[in-house]
Amino acid sequence: MAIEVINGQARAGACTSEHNPAWPSGPYNGRWAAQPVLSIVEDFMPKMRAVQVVHAGGPFEIVEREIPEPGSGMVRIKVQACGICHSDEVTKQGMFPGIQYPRVPGHEVIGVIDAIGQNVPRWTVGQRVGVGWNGGYCGYCDSCRRGNFFACETSTQVTGVTRDGGYADYMIAPASAIAVVPAELSPEEGAPLMCAGVTTFNCLRNSGARPGDIVAVIGLGGLGHLGIQFAAKSGFKTVGIGRGKDKEALARKLGASYYIDSAVQDPAAELQKLGGARVILATVTSADAMKAVIGGLTPAGTLMIVGAVPALEVPALQLLLKSQQVKGWYSGTSIDSQETLAFSVLSGVRSMNESYPLEQVNEAYERMVQGKARFRVVLTMEK
Ligand SMILES: [Zn+2]
Ligand SMILES: [Zn+2]
Repeated sequence: MAIEVINGQARAGACTSEHNPAWPSGPYNGRWAAQPVLSIVEDFMPKMRAVQVVHAGGPFEIVEREIPEPGSGMVRIKVQACGICHSDEVTKQGMFPGIQYPRVPGHEVIGVIDAIGQNVPRWTVGQRVGVGWNGGYCGYCDSCRRGNFFACETSTQVTGVTRDGGYADYMIAPASAIAVVPAELSPEEGAPLMCAGVTTFNCLRNSGARPGDIVAVIGLGGLGHLGIQFAAKSGFKTVGIGRGKDKEALARKLGASYYIDSAVQDPAAELQKLGGARVILATVTSADAMKAVIGGLTPAGTLMIVGAVPALEVPALQLLLKSQQVKGWYSGTSIDSQETLAFSVLSGVRSMNESYPLEQVNEAYERMVQGKARFRVVLTMEK
């Protein structure tokens, strides 16, 4: 239908239902001549719900937005579920340099490709995909050419931070940022694996530990409860370290062969009694808790840090004499997420989640921020 526009108004009498008997009567009848054309077009543009942050430190706003179109190299995803991660605070509180508002957070996304831009080989409409923290990479800078895609030098792309994320019915993602989601995983099961899952799994599989080695996991929260499962299913002799006797049953249920209660035991001494840990996965955000376990490493052992602590004092002489390492670990890129999901299906690793509909984003977010969630929080998009 052609609509002629004069100064933003539809020409009087054009395109009314009166002039077009085929046009359905009902709620739209007669509106065409009475409204500015742009407003009419906007009324008919498909809309979606999105949760946005308008400024650093601001509240969440649930708004209606136009459904975005994918540009070159991009796909549009109809979001089914999106996990709430502690790193969403980066968007909420404006902790990322140069962040632009309004911004939709969310980097634990599971959904279905429903539109594809130009120059996107391989992916097809209808495929189930996930998006994590890494929001894509160029593939041609020196870091990418070395295989360090996470450190792409062309532009830092972070889902839900530099581009709108998954707290919405739809989102746009670069093809380089998406992972295949196996049919065996429900959207809620898959979502936390896109950040908490890939972080712990990818860290462990790159830690140097081999099946049969002792691997300890400090912390039994959102990251730790997945870390223990991945460690056990990878064939490591797994040690859970938490504060309090009450966490022992959970640690063992998740696959830990041993449990150390760091509230009453010296975790380093207890690890040495077991023969020492080849790897310790530190999921806590306490530098003191990390410091207390370093003495539990074997010679050439490694403390792998995935919990965000601003600074950590290390016993340099011990590291030197025993050739030990303290290493940080970035989560992973899309292929790492894809392999995390596949391994989870293969081995039965699952995140323990609390699910909330999108409208309850404030309540859901508070559960996460206050550390009350057991153990990950997921927003679902069904209406
Ligand atoms: Zn995250
Ligand atoms: Zn690059």
